[in-house]
Amino acid sequence: MQLKIFFSKTNTEKDTLIMTPEKRDKTKLLPISRLIIYLLLLFIIILVVSLSALISIYRQHKQTVAELKKSNEEYLATIKHLEAENTNHKDAISEYKETIAQYDEEAAAIRQKLIQIEELERKVNSLIDSKDSSMKLSRGGSFPVSSSLTQDLDKKIKSLDTLFTKVSTHIEQQRRIPLILPCIGRISSTFGYRPNPFTGKNKEFHRGVDIANKYGTPIYASADGIVTKSGWINGYGYTIIIDHGNGYETLYAHNSKLTVPVGTAVNRGDKIAEMGSSGRATGPHSHFEIRLNSQAINPFSLIVLAS
Ligand SMILES: [Zn+2]
Repeated sequence: MQLKIFFSKTNTEKDTLIMTPEKRDKTKLLPISRLIIYLLLLFIIILVVSLSALISIYRQHKQTVAELKKSNEEYLATIKHLEAENTNHKDAISEYKETIAQYDEEAAAIRQKLIQIEELERKVNSLIDSKDSSMKLSRGGSFPVSSSLTQDLDKKIKSLDTLFTKVSTHIEQQRRIPLILPCIGRISSTFGYRPNPFTGKNKEFHRGVDIANKYGTPIYASADGIVTKSGWINGYGYTIIIDHGNGYETLYAHNSKLTVPVGTAVNRGDKIAEMGSSGRATGPHSHFEIRLNSQAINPFSLIVLAS
């Protein structure tokens, strides 16, 4: 079918649309207003403009997609990079953690050493006579802070250990020297020549000191040592002898009762007997002798009486 438009020459006439199908005899003439033709043209123009606008939008869209794709790739690369960095950070953190753990261990060791030092200080101070405060270890000294702190602490511990051993040895030696009288009472006779207590005549040598008191007064060891005699000795009566292991021996005579057997390890101040008048005695008293290398010495050369 063919379509033809005939425009009229005057404005009053209508234009004509001729429709010519295949069969000629059925040709149709369709009068058509000019307005419709204009509208038709306008429609075609709008269609073309719209299409070109759509094409332009489509192109822009395509470009945007490409740009987004590109930036997405960039983002992915950045993420990869950050992930790698994160792994590095994780490694660094685990290293830090290890270092911190090492410091913790070192700190625990230092704390242990400080406890040892405190213990040693306490032990040394407990050994030193409380009156002699000049020898006491004072607290609060500052330890040198350096990378070799543990070495410094080790040195301090070693020196304290040596001091503790020295003080302990010294105190142990002191405790083995007879320095106290064995009982409370009245000094009735001293070391040296004296008249015979029974006859009052003929001077005799008194090998110890006599301390007089009541029957049963407790007799104490004058120093640390081992009991080597606990029994009767003619003249001395019921007697205790203690060997102090350093050349000193002490003898306690005329007891009424002996309370420690031979072989007993005694400390200064331990009860060893009770006062009596056994043996050659005129009344209840303790005859106390100190022997150095088997020779009787004046007990007051060692014993200082409290004023
Ligand atoms: Zn005597």
